[in-house]
Amino acid sequence: MASYFDDHSLEDPYKARRPNNNNANSNSRFNPDLSHFMPREDTDETAQTPYQMGATSMPGEGDFRRLAQLFGTFRQREEALGDEEHQEFLDNLITQLMDEAGASGKHGPPPASKSFIRDLPFVPLKEVKRDDACIICNENFQENESKAGITKLPCKHFFDRDCIVPWLELHNNCPACRAEVPSDDPVWIKKKRDAELAKYAAEAEVDEDWMYS
Ligand SMILES: [Zn+2]
Ligand SMILES: [Zn+2]
Repeated sequence: MASYFDDHSLEDPYKARRPNNNNANSNSRFNPDLSHFMPREDTDETAQTPYQMGATSMPGEGDFRRLAQLFGTFRQREEALGDEEHQEFLDNLITQLMDEAGASGKHGPPPASKSFIRDLPFVPLKEVKRDDACIICNENFQENESKAGITKLPCKHFFDRDCIVPWLELHNNCPACRAEVPSDDPVWIKKKRDAELAKYAAEAEVDEDWMYS
């Protein structure tokens, strides 16, 4: 059987993830995704995520596996170069992705919001330092200029867009420091709102205690 890497160029991991390039074998067994071909008939909109409602499907097992495979190629290179710290960093990401693939992404963080990914800033090459490398693939930005360009997250970590976008399509956080970024996931939005409200409530209580003491 031809492997994913036989069929797809590794030069463009983002492109390789698009639905038309799906490795049908890896995606179909646990999470048959027919949403591209069939209109959804569910009417209870509150129970649906934007991914189920919109044109794009929820990330499935195959999406996590493909990204783990891509990160695996970065890891192999680090092994050859002997960068153990970065190998360990990639090992952790790969382990996480494979766990998430097993659960079809149900237990991990939700994807970053579409608008957040769309609005990621383009960082000009002259703005990164000479020694700066993409945190995911560890390639120096200056020496290995990515065609898709460089971006940074609000936590100020820099990445090749090719490396961070596929991660953000599966996780609403920075793979390095885990700082959260926005998500469209209604469950995540509700959790955030509840946490805000709980914080206000706690603050209001403190104020009252102070007034009546
Ligand atoms: Zn990179
Ligand atoms: Zn970060």
